[in-house]
Amino acid sequence: MTIVLCGCAGLAIVSLRNAAWQQAKIGAETLLDSMTRTLTRDFELYDLSLQAVADRLRDPILEGVSPQVRHLALFDRAATASGYGAIFVLDAQGDAFIDSGSLVPRRLNGADRVYFQVQRNRDAGLYVGRPWRTRVSGREMIPLSRRFSYADGAFAGVVVGAIELAYFEAVFARLNRNLNLKITVLFDDSLSTGGGQPPVQYPAADPLDRQTLSMIAEADHITLISSSAGAEALHVAHRVGTLPMHVVVSVPLSTIGSAWHARATAIVLIVGTPAIALLCLLQLLRSELRRRTVAEAELAALALTDALTGIPNRRHFDRRLAELEKASSRERCALALIDVDRFKAFNDYSGHPAGDLVLKAVGAELAMCAARAGGIAFRIGGEEFAVVLTGVEEAHALNVARDCRGSIEALALPHALSPLGIVTVSVGLLYADRRSATTQTEWLSLADAALYEAKRGGRNQVRTIDIVTGKTETSSASSRMVSTEELLPA
Ligand code: GH3
Ligand code: MG
Ligand code: MG
Repeated sequence: MTIVLCGCAGLAIVSLRNAAWQQAKIGAETLLDSMTRTLTRDFELYDLSLQAVADRLRDPILEGVSPQVRHLALFDRAATASGYGAIFVLDAQGDAFIDSGSLVPRRLNGADRVYFQVQRNRDAGLYVGRPWRTRVSGREMIPLSRRFSYADGAFAGVVVGAIELAYFEAVFARLNRNLNLKITVLFDDSLSTGGGQPPVQYPAADPLDRQTLSMIAEADHITLISSSAGAEALHVAHRVGTLPMHVVVSVPLSTIGSAWHARATAIVLIVGTPAIALLCLLQLLRSELRRRTVAEAELAALALTDALTGIPNRRHFDRRLAELEKASSRERCALALIDVDRFKAFNDYSGHPAGDLVLKAVGAELAMCAARAGGIAFRIGGEEFAVVLTGVEEAHALNVARDCRGSIEALALPHALSPLGIVTVSVGLLYADRRSATTQTEWLSLADAALYEAKRGGRNQVRTIDIVTGKTETSSASSRMVSTEELLPA
């Protein structure tokens, strides 16, 4: 559920982000489009005026007319609109001889200007240069020039006009109603001049880096992200017609971010809080479950453990026998019943607490013997124990039974009323092999019969019993036998 919730929130946030970017791009492209259209049209109109001057100059009709008439014929109203500079006609030496702003041309020589040299070298068509401060008005303008030639094509001079940079500002202000969008115009005449100078940027504030500038200058239409004045921005740039000019519309990434960040934060809070709560709940539940499982396991272990000796108890023993009864491996298992000899007498003589200590010691010793043989020792009654072995040969089972008896004897726990003076056990051993088809009840009674024989035979010994015939046998390597009954008090 948490994953699904978080997935949905993630999708919502991604689509919010995409929508914000889409909107920013569309806004920038729309503005860019109207900017380039306006500039293209205005430059074309101004160029028409320049072309008209260049064409009409050659017209023989204008030879010998008064300057006023020539002025009227050469300059239309468009060329004198505000934002446009005066149009000059320069001769082949660069000297102005016609001035749209004055009947007597102002003194001007443009021979050292880039536009003049470009047009003198070849007919560059409409040449738009870099912004400059004019000698006539002192204002910042960009020059637009056209060459005019004699009939044979020889260089006759240059018709040059100018558009004020303030004109761009007016267009920006008219078209850009969005304060978050910034418009920049790049002037790049390096194609016509052949010089590798970087484009000039207007306005000059927050300059774009060199790499961004050159990438924009080389492309007709480009979208890129770069930083200017330390802030990242999305830039969309378009060339203005065929002119060496690009309009760049920039959207700061912070603006795009603010369009979706607040809503994304709200989604994170709305979805994240319940998701975290859910996870905490899940964690709580898991630890509770784990605690319970551990407690249950401890309880189960406790239920199968004898409190006094700490070894598996009667319940565990019954369960193990039931398992064996069902398992196919039972045909190679052995059951040894082990009973402490003359324990009632021990208790009577040494007291019940001392008896308990003996039972503990016997239990621990038998557990070790059983473990050595891969079996388990159980306390199945007051002073009665059992060892269950599986997957063993008969001879091995007998050895284990002997080991059990011998180990208890080796403990040498003092028993004042025992013939040997120490605590001993008797063992009845039943080996269940392939021939057996008996139940656990039958095993128990057979093993018990063997134990009874061991007691009857003098105690501190191992007796085996045949599962088929029910005949008992004294284990040959038996204990130190002592004839006992008469040693005992009545
Ligand atoms: P035998 O050699 O024939 O086995 O003689 P025995 O005295 O061991 O046999 P009996 O069954 O007559 O006596 C068993 C005694 O074990 C009776 C009881 O006092 C003692 N007993 C049983 N459970 C406990 C116990 O938990 N603690 C102690 N201290 N003694 C116990
Ligand atoms: Mg007993
Ligand atoms: Mg006993």
